[in-house]
Amino acid sequence: MNKLPIIGIPRVLNMYENFPFWKSLFKHCGFETVLSPETTMPLYQSGTGSVMSENICFPAKVAHGHILALAKAGIDRIFYPIVPKEAAEFDHACDSFNCPVVSGYPEVIRSAMNPAENLGIPFDKPVMNFANLKRLKSACYKYVAQFGVSKKILNKAFEKAVEQQREFLKKLVAPQHEILLKAIKSNELVFIVAGRPYHADPLIHQKVGQILSDLGVHALTDDVFRMPLDLSETVRRSFATHGQAGSFKNLNMISQWSYPNRVVQTALKVAQLPQNVQMVQLNSFGCGPDSFYLEETGEILKQAGKNHTVLRIDEIASPGSIRLRLRSLIESLNSG
Ligand code: SF4
Repeated sequence: MNKLPIIGIPRVLNMYENFPFWKSLFKHCGFETVLSPETTMPLYQSGTGSVMSENICFPAKVAHGHILALAKAGIDRIFYPIVPKEAAEFDHACDSFNCPVVSGYPEVIRSAMNPAENLGIPFDKPVMNFANLKRLKSACYKYVAQFGVSKKILNKAFEKAVEQQREFLKKLVAPQHEILLKAIKSNELVFIVAGRPYHADPLIHQKVGQILSDLGVHALTDDVFRMPLDLSETVRRSFATHGQAGSFKNLNMISQWSYPNRVVQTALKVAQLPQNVQMVQLNSFGCGPDSFYLEETGEILKQAGKNHTVLRIDEIASPGSIRLRLRSLIESLNSG
């Protein structure tokens, strides 16, 4: 087998979801991978010249700077797959599509930046479907086979990559379950910050989690409800009078978007938990799916007598006003 190329992976959008899978798959096939650095304002600004639309959401806009950063990182190719669907997660959710911006952005990057021509780096954007492991595997094989990787090696690497992705989710969820259960038992205020996987990007999330922690409350992510929460009988009894179980079956919208469905799942779960469990929803300016998901989550929480707190975030940092908003929310909850 010839020397394998070094693969550059942009730290953007769906990569916040699937990176453990790709890292493991490439490693076990023998590739070296380089991930673009964390987003900073200079990195974002370096790519703004090729952003095609001022109205596109900020998480998409930062992708351009990441491609330029990879071009300077000594890599041989850029790998940024088109991922139309994620793995299905919730019973009764209609589907698990990525929003058109997430799934289509590799194509936008190709046409707006043309990395192969303008940066001299081949840009690979194969279609990968995480909702169907058989198809995913065959697409992975098609991709690595062009570099001489055998089917036998790919098969083993694929198994490990799937396992790695599962392990990653468990590691993400288990400590959050522990904190949530303790907070329910001890009646401490806990906020579930619901957004998108790429809201983990420090320039995108505007430090909402940190601000909540600084204000003395627990802050968890919507991942906490991506695995069943084991509520003991004692904890269950402590909020026996709270909301009834809701479900994706009873929504007023089509629950077809994977990441936004996690926000609805969070609202459904928070609605069933005691008043000390609250939700804060992050909304990136220009987000298409949120234009109707916001109404749905608001309605679910309202019916449970809970606040629907939405923080609108974009490239303009406003930690002062976010802090003020959260502080007054916490004070009103503590005095209620
Ligand atoms: S779900 Fe919203 S924030 Fe995310 S990429 Fe799509 S439009 Fe942007």
